[in-house]
Amino acid sequence: MTEPKELNPFRTLAMPPPQAAAAPDLLMPKSEEESIREELERGILFTSVEKMVNWSRANSIWPLGFGLACCAIEMMAALAPRFDISRFGAEVMRASPRQADLMIVAGRVSLKMAPVLRLLYEQMPDPKWVISMGACASCGGVFNNYAILQGVDKIVPVDVYVPGCPPRPEALIHGIMKLQEKILVSRVELGPIARKTRKGAA
Ligand code: SF4
Repeated sequence: MTEPKELNPFRTLAMPPPQAAAAPDLLMPKSEEESIREELERGILFTSVEKMVNWSRANSIWPLGFGLACCAIEMMAALAPRFDISRFGAEVMRASPRQADLMIVAGRVSLKMAPVLRLLYEQMPDPKWVISMGACASCGGVFNNYAILQGVDKIVPVDVYVPGCPPRPEALIHGIMKLQEKILVSRVELGPIARKTRKGAA
């Protein structure tokens, strides 16, 4: 007794005609169209530009390498071999904001530091994201006083808040994974596409 032929879950090309699917005959020579279709399905993946761009962005996040207080120690631990955020493609810490697309605000932000942090954010190229790491960065934490900014979202837009004092490296990794989810469903600005008309004008 022969096993029923499994359907290919990744089949993306047009399905074969119903009569061909209903009565597969291994002895019958395949048509050229069917042979080409099978060859294509072995090595070609169909997707959209938006999904491809988002997938590559989400899996190659480059964080800006700076820390503000004790939370930064946990951020450094997340980079080390025990936790190893390179598993999520986010280990390439950049020393320049012009090469980074993720700002991890790790620690309390003093009012003196706030304009510097904002300047660093503005120097990062688009698209860019911000993770607020720890209670101090998110709401001032225990420092409810005149010297500390009561939440970094007062000066930069925050995408993900990581709670804790300090958050464990696993919590930061979870925040990065949440950010990846957000990036994967975000809209991609592809910019103006020049279209040629019959008269040749772009
Ligand atoms: S949240 Fe806690 S560990 Fe982080 S900067 Fe504030 S006091 Fe330090």
